[in-house]
Amino acid sequence: MSRFPGQPYFDYRGDQLYVEELPLADLAREYGTPLFVYSKASMLAALGAYQRGFGDRNAKIHYAMKANSSLAILQVFAQAGCGFDIVSGGELERALAAGAKGSDIVFSGVGKTRAEMKRALEVGIACFNVESEPELEVLSEVATSAGKEAAVSLRVNPNVDPKTHPYISTGLKGNKFGVAHDRVLHAYQRAAQLPGLRVVGIDCHIGSQITDVGPYLDTVDRMLDLVQAVETAGIPIHHIDFGGGLGISYHGEQPPQADALWAQLLAKIDARGFGSRTLMIEPGRSLVGNAGVCVSEVLYLKPGETKNFCIVDAAMNDLPRPAMYQAYHAILPVRTRDDMPHTYDVVGPVCESGDWIGHTRELAVNPGDYVAVMSAGAYCMSMASNYNTRGRAAEVLVDGTKAHLIRERETPAQQMLREKLVP
Ligand SMILES: *Cc1c(COP(=O)(O)O)cnc(C)c1O
Repeated sequence: MSRFPGQPYFDYRGDQLYVEELPLADLAREYGTPLFVYSKASMLAALGAYQRGFGDRNAKIHYAMKANSSLAILQVFAQAGCGFDIVSGGELERALAAGAKGSDIVFSGVGKTRAEMKRALEVGIACFNVESEPELEVLSEVATSAGKEAAVSLRVNPNVDPKTHPYISTGLKGNKFGVAHDRVLHAYQRAAQLPGLRVVGIDCHIGSQITDVGPYLDTVDRMLDLVQAVETAGIPIHHIDFGGGLGISYHGEQPPQADALWAQLLAKIDARGFGSRTLMIEPGRSLVGNAGVCVSEVLYLKPGETKNFCIVDAAMNDLPRPAMYQAYHAILPVRTRDDMPHTYDVVGPVCESGDWIGHTRELAVNPGDYVAVMSAGAYCMSMASNYNTRGRAAEVLVDGTKAHLIRERETPAQQMLREKLVP
């Protein structure tokens, strides 16, 4: 067993940190740093826990691809039978390029454009997860003028507190997401009247990095109450989509395992008589977060008056979560040393005080050593930017003893490709 609870596919052998059967240091030397490294076995194990959880139920898993939308990552999930939850026209094209069929895709998001709706109808997506009444009207117009019928679910706001960071809580009153609880019936009645729409389901998503079962149990109750109310009004609901949000272990959190969580939720769903419905979920972070690390080189050790800094070549443009949400990522030496550790703030080269990766970390490292920023598979590469004209990192997918370069490092020329000087 690995000593990292969430990341069993990453562990030390002797003084070397390995991913599956390969030393991370070898990958860093071959492909350069900063480098994202993913374990395919870890991704499939995470998906497998959900698939086991649902057994032979009538259920469909749509990977919320905004967590990590690199093509090869999507390809692994598509080949394992997973569908996709998208939030933009760009993600639609990525999912298709990775081998998904339109019918494997559901489309979430509060601000879908007419062009995005039209394209999604063209490729025959499974469902639009509509977030407001005005969006229903626009989708009806777009579908009618394209001569198509749009399958519609309403994203409802169950007003459940997921007890997570306010920036990643989405199912409370006052969030921009979903149809307010007391408008749901009205919105379904409108959807049922509008031409070009076919009501098929109901969905929600209450937040992210949820580590308790409680908020999910509350959500199940609220959702099933709503299904009953809508069906009593004569509008059948064929599928119930509970969204994503299950947390991972970054720093000692102990979220439920996906199969254990779903055993509890399914018991409740069965007890209320909804066990034979089509059930859907949209996990993101919990499928990829602990399948990836970011390997970075130590550039300088800089003693300060009150703090020592460990300056590495990865930065907030590669790893935005600490700057955005004060998030914690473990930082480990890729090769351990016997030297005395020192306390460092681990920071990147970007010209912002917000550019930190970890505060007060004990590390025994020298310049030229590599460190691994752990649990970096979700909401890192997909949020990476070119701030400070830094090229986005390369990515490698490891499968046992094999490493596949799945994204080349971005060059300055590629960053400037679409820019023009004035005459
Ligand atoms: C982001 C998102 C998800 C996935 O959330 P995770 O916390 O990564 O599991 C699922 N559904 C919707 C609508 C989302 O916006």
